Amino acid sequence: MRTIGLIGGMSWESTAEYYRLLNELTRDRLGGLHSAQLVLYSVDFATIERLQSEGRWTEAGDILAAAARSLEAAGAELLLICTNTMHKVADQVAAAVSVPLLHLADATASAVRAAGLRRVGLLGTAFTMEQDFYRGRLASGGLDVLVPGAESRALVHRVIYEELCVGVVREESRAAYRRVIEELVAAGAEGIVLGCTEIELLVRPEDSPVPVFPTARLHAEATLDAALHAEAALDAALDAGVTRREA
Ligand code: GLU
Repeated sequence: MRTIGLIGGMSWESTAEYYRLLNELTRDRLGGLHSAQLVLYSVDFATIERLQSEGRWTEAGDILAAAARSLEAAGAELLLICTNTMHKVADQVAAAVSVPLLHLADATASAVRAAGLRRVGLLGTAFTMEQDFYRGRLASGGLDVLVPGAESRALVHRVIYEELCVGVVREESRAAYRRVIEELVAAGAEGIVLGCTEIELLVRPEDSPVPVFPTARLHAEATLDAALHAEAALDAALDAGVTRREA
């Protein structure tokens, strides 16, 4: 198994899920006492959130690029950024190392296509829902992406930072998200991308009349496909999900 490097802590609430999912999926696939071989670099999210809200993305990217280099030096052979939002700086991170970075939006687009769907509603932070770095990547993966209206986007964003990233899961917020999902389905969404790694702590499949695509889980599954695959077949196994930079 390739050693997986996780750039996490954004927030740690979802990074803990990645850790659990990667270990459970390894046990499911390999059986017995097998568990995931991985290295985790967990950042201080308060620093990252401040840089995000001040639009200082390159500085945030520098922090993640340094984390990526540390993970590579610690033996990581495949890297993940454990947040959708920080894929805004995915190219900067990928350029800092010589091991591949498995892009979360690519893993998500593959899963949606495999489900036979094309038009999806996207929930995530305002950055993810409004900017091109994520929507554009899903679109290049063959998807047609819808986002909620401005008021709903503000609500979805607020719940992520004020509740889910600090471990608070409220029934009222789940009901509010259900209404946003209905809005997207009424606009034609055939599936809902839970495009923030904390949303799957709140929204369950039964909260949506159409299939949901939980990005932390999908990212973990794609990672296991890659980490367990023979080197010769790496590119095929990762589908379009890897940004590989030749050293
Ligand atoms: N984990 C979240 C995401 O997947 C939000 C936290 C962040 O801004 O990184 O986008």
